Amino acid sequence: MKLTGPFTQILPLDGLPLKGTLGDEQLSIIPNGGVLTEDGIILGIGDFDQLRKANPSAQNEEITGPQVLLPGFVDCHTHICFGGNRAKDYSMRIAGKTYLEIANAGGGIWDTVTQTRKATEQELTETLIQRANRHLNEGLTTIEVKSGYGLSVQDELKQLRAIKAASAQTKAKLIPTCLAAHMVPNDFSGSQEEYLILVLNELLPKIKNEQLSNRVDIFIEQSAISADNALNYLTKAKALGFDVTVHADQFTMGGSKVAVEVGAVSADHLEASGEAEIKLLAESDTVAVALPGASLGLGMNYPPARKLLDAGACLAFASDWNPGSAPMGDLLMQAAVMSAAEKLSAAEVFAGLTYRAAAALKINNRGILSPGMVADMQSYPCADYREILYYQGKMKPVAVWTGGNKA
Ligand SMILES: [Zn+2]
Repeated sequence: MKLTGPFTQILPLDGLPLKGTLGDEQLSIIPNGGVLTEDGIILGIGDFDQLRKANPSAQNEEITGPQVLLPGFVDCHTHICFGGNRAKDYSMRIAGKTYLEIANAGGGIWDTVTQTRKATEQELTETLIQRANRHLNEGLTTIEVKSGYGLSVQDELKQLRAIKAASAQTKAKLIPTCLAAHMVPNDFSGSQEEYLILVLNELLPKIKNEQLSNRVDIFIEQSAISADNALNYLTKAKALGFDVTVHADQFTMGGSKVAVEVGAVSADHLEASGEAEIKLLAESDTVAVALPGASLGLGMNYPPARKLLDAGACLAFASDWNPGSAPMGDLLMQAAVMSAAEKLSAAEVFAGLTYRAAAALKINNRGILSPGMVADMQSYPCADYREILYYQGKMKPVAVWTGGNKA
């Protein structure tokens, strides 16, 4: 048994609603707090001195100086398993070149597919571990990782095997997702429907057999997969036992409607969502996921986060860390910057980075600090939690724990 503390403040993010608006006055704050853990699980949380007295045999992990403790953040949407980079694309985009001009110059998703196919499984594993560990050091203890740069049975399996191998070599918890339906690959001669049938018949059963993932994602967009084909694909993927999630309403509407109809765990992006989409999401169990890193990378508007919360939706944030549109990957900075534009409370931001993001991954033992939960935690070098967003993501945690141990 171990007692960690005393922390100047602990924000357990406990006892808060899954959906809708949150005010900072709803946050419970434990001053002079401690956390009692055993075998990686939280046994108790509360006043440090009382925990000390009640558990004299517990080993003490002493915290010195002002520190604020939060649950580890959950990044519920990333594409950090890839080869190469797209700095050339990015320079063209910021200089004002269009999507088509960039694609014609050999850029876009297909460029990353080409570079990811060239990489060995070992190379993909090693670069993924580096990115996951960078994230972990910045307080992100759970990280979803998508495939989607293989786009053939063999190369999608290579990516998912790399994610599985990396998972065993990082202290961050990695959640793999199959995004073979990212786009129809340029070298596939058949139709969109035929490509999705190939994925359903040839790839998803192998993923099940090898236990590589239980989640399936799709990019619904005029330039990627149509809403009709997506509905059919996701319905069949669900019947095979997969949880489904959707890249929805990034440039045009249509994706979030499919997500709600099929009962997706989350609908991510939503930059183009209108009033009808907001209402649909708010009335559903589908988590709305904002990806401010994509808005920053593309120079586009943010999703309507304030309206989603006011309508009663469950809103989470994720980095969308990827080599094309969101290369920064700094989720706290992105959420902090977006909160000023969208008028979000600190409570709404922290909820969206912790337990609400965990809900988007159907994880129920992380994202809150309370007895029975996994002790994934992070502490910041300040005396008041409000300083964390005040520094707009520049202040990083001084310590990060996964399963009760310092990472
Ligand atoms: Zn994405």
